[in-house]
Amino acid sequence: YRRFHFIMKPLVVMKFGGSSVADAEKIRKVADRIIAKKEAGNNVVVVVSAMGDTTDHLIEMAKSVTENPPDREMDMLLSSGEVISMAILTMAIQERGYDAISLTGPQAEIITDTSHRRARITDIKATRVKEEIAKDRIVIVAGFQGISSDHEVTTLGRGGSDTTAVALAYALKANVCEILTDVPGVFTADPRIVPEARKMNEICYEEMLELASMGAKVLQSRSVELASKYGVVLKVGLSHEDSPGTIIKEEEVSMEQVLVRGIAHNTDEVKFTVHRVPDKPGVAAAIFTKLAEKGVNVDMIIQNIGQEGYANLSFTVATGDIAKTAALADMIKKEVGAERVTSDENIAKVSIVGIGMRSHTGVAEKVFRTLAEQEINIEMISTSEIKISVVINKDRAADAVRALHAAFELDKAPAV
Ligand code: ASP
Ligand code: MG
Repeated sequence: YRRFHFIMKPLVVMKFGGSSVADAEKIRKVADRIIAKKEAGNNVVVVVSAMGDTTDHLIEMAKSVTENPPDREMDMLLSSGEVISMAILTMAIQERGYDAISLTGPQAEIITDTSHRRARITDIKATRVKEEIAKDRIVIVAGFQGISSDHEVTTLGRGGSDTTAVALAYALKANVCEILTDVPGVFTADPRIVPEARKMNEICYEEMLELASMGAKVLQSRSVELASKYGVVLKVGLSHEDSPGTIIKEEEVSMEQVLVRGIAHNTDEVKFTVHRVPDKPGVAAAIFTKLAEKGVNVDMIIQNIGQEGYANLSFTVATGDIAKTAALADMIKKEVGAERVTSDENIAKVSIVGIGMRSHTGVAEKVFRTLAEQEINIEMISTSEIKISVVINKDRAADAVRALHAAFELDKAPAV
């Protein structure tokens, strides 16, 4: 009978971010929300992040004893943050008289590959999670962590609890995966920059993936990738109250018809320029092979046709990779016979995203015209089927986002 009972109840995965469990009072509020969801007739599996800035503090702590903390020990250290929050939250739920149990990533059998600090989930058995659900318990799982195929504790990269939640939702065939946080949903632009920005009611995976990887920080982009691959419906919403949030799902004809869905901006990239490289075959290959070998992820690339057989080549990398890239610059300069390598940290990337671009022309033209009217110089451009990104001066990033938001009328509710 119990088993029957378990099968019949809808299952909801709720993920709470670090700011939602930052202190005891917030944890008690989260406990109330979980209990309300349970009382409404659902089975509930919860994924938690570390409390507040715990992960940042743990990283600082490691840096205070060594400049190069070994990745294995970093994973041992960083995984402890989520272990604290899962246990405290479970106690808060039990204190209210409800049956709950916490499980670490390894106990939940979240299996990953062996790459420490950026492990990928390869399998989820979740035997224990299912057993505990069958006992009608609320199950609290530590986000951001797993166990590798060589039985080592791993973490999933910053923001990785989102990915834990999506993967569990898929493995447990949950009805919905709720990502609960301190913002009411996904916005058309960062509301701290554009006060008129609107919360979207829905957005499709493809658009969300572009926005997340272009700098919208509401979701880890890998979690969106995973949700898209397995068709897990996501809802991003407030942690302290039940609100409609933003639904992220497969593209549907009934979705609000818009040309541009949202604007993201990213100020965490640096532009490197290799000056006066010989304009001949093999040069780009030599430069980008070097960077790839050292694990530097290159984002945008532009080559200016120079004069007399020379060209300038610029590319952007994440701020976290500045040191690595600068260290390679000398080698690159010698190998390709360039004059010098310079870097510019004063840049921002602004991206506009929307599936409507697939079938409509003139979007790029409108972007360029809008920026020109603001006298904002475009340093680099890249496009995909549903996205246009430009690199501009960092000091003008906010102006650019505001102007584009107004130009595409994102402040107005779209026609359905
Ligand atoms: N605590 C980890 C971080 O700060 C994982 C997460 O919050 O999702 O990145
Ligand atoms: Mg997060």
